[in-house]
Amino acid sequence: MPVPEHLEFFIDPSRCIGCESCVQACSECDTHRGHSMIHLEYVERSRTTQTTPVICMHCDSPTCAEVCPADAIKRTEDGVVQSARKPRCIACSNCVLACPFGVPKMKSDLELMMKCDMCYDRSSVGKKPMCASVCPSQALFFGTREEIERLRKRSAAVNRFRFGNQTVTTKVNMMVPRDARPEYIDVAAAMEEDSLGGDIMLNVLST
Ligand code: SF4
Ligand code: SF4
Repeated sequence: MPVPEHLEFFIDPSRCIGCESCVQACSECDTHRGHSMIHLEYVERSRTTQTTPVICMHCDSPTCAEVCPADAIKRTEDGVVQSARKPRCIACSNCVLACPFGVPKMKSDLELMMKCDMCYDRSSVGKKPMCASVCPSQALFFGTREEIERLRKRSAAVNRFRFGNQTVTTKVNMMVPRDARPEYIDVAAAMEEDSLGGDIMLNVLST
């Protein structure tokens, strides 16, 4: 079954409290038992303890799949990019190097790339992914657009990201302040030291 069209994933970095409940819950998912496919990143470690959860963004044109020489990564018709298939993955790490969001992880002991598949066993039957089901601050939210708009009146969802000249659109949405809603999130600019914590990230984190 496909993921119901009216259900979407929203990440709100400003709400992450660094508790790692999502990381623990993810490792209990049936499809990748014992391995968490979510991790937390420190936004600006020298100045703040603010963390943000990182999951697969489920790109509309997934670079990970495009560079896979073994055709091991499938994007299902509902837009979910699946984790690598065991019989096909040759553990070359092309996808790990190519993903602009730094998501796929090579599990050397298994000789297999593993990544978030939006808990397909759950989301395809309308249940929340494990991470979204436990997040106490709802930094990870799985539901309808109407719900998130009602709950987060000062925020807006963006699913366009810029990496230099490349624009990547994703199935997963990032919540940003509604007043300063950018057409896209410029990831490359946010990673430059001079602008880190400036226009981009503070705007994202200020709600
Ligand atoms: S459970 Fe939610 S609040 Fe806690 S670390 Fe994960 S994303 Fe952040
Ligand atoms: S975020 Fe990375 S791993 Fe996920 S679909 Fe896009 S390129 Fe693939």
